[in-house]
Amino acid sequence: MPDELLARLRRFHDDAFPAYEARFKALVDDGQHPSTLFIGCSDSRVVPYMLTGSGPGELFLVRNVAAFVPPWDGSAGHHGTSAAIEFAVLTLGVRHIIVCGHSHCGGIRALYAEPHPDAPNLNGWLALGREAVLPVADPGPEVLRRTEQRAVVLQLERLMDYPMVRERVERGELSLHGWHFIIEQGEVHVFDVHRGAFVPASKSAHAGTGPYLSHDLAPGAPGLDPCGVPSGA
Ligand SMILES: [Zn+2]
Repeated sequence: MPDELLARLRRFHDDAFPAYEARFKALVDDGQHPSTLFIGCSDSRVVPYMLTGSGPGELFLVRNVAAFVPPWDGSAGHHGTSAAIEFAVLTLGVRHIIVCGHSHCGGIRALYAEPHPDAPNLNGWLALGREAVLPVADPGPEVLRRTEQRAVVLQLERLMDYPMVRERVERGELSLHGWHFIIEQGEVHVFDVHRGAFVPASKSAHAGTGPYLSHDLAPGAPGLDPCGVPSGA
């Protein structure tokens, strides 16, 4: 049986790497200085490098089922996503954090289904999206899309519970961006906190906002309702 993975590794080394060799060597000599932490769903149809036109050294990537952010207090146990957020902000000094969900997300759809009896880790993980679920027994495409978007905003809110994130957002040193990639349209819809809705990138004046209006960030000020996006949005 031909070893397809081996063939791909050899093609990378022989065909692709030469064009990037100088870039990779510079990234070794100077270290990595990515400007952006991209937290995306593991779905194979979400393609961060294609969406952002990025190359080596530009994106610090975390991917997991449904692009969820665990709570900062560690109540989710050991978690690589939380560790990556702390590392990206404190050590790498990223200036942007993107949370990217997408259409037809199996993780979000699973929030409306029975737990899988053989997947305790997956079942526990999905709890991080539970607050985004709408009170519908048999969700159609529109409800699923709204749930996907509400889940993105929920993760942005949870990011703001990370002290190192909140401090830098309040100081204007770090921007949060909520994205929802519509696979079949090839377009990212970006969260706009001022409109309380996701807007196609083609019709947006910015690359997405965080979950709170700037005046909500003042210490002691109340935030938006849970999920930011009104349930009818
Ligand atoms: Zn997904």
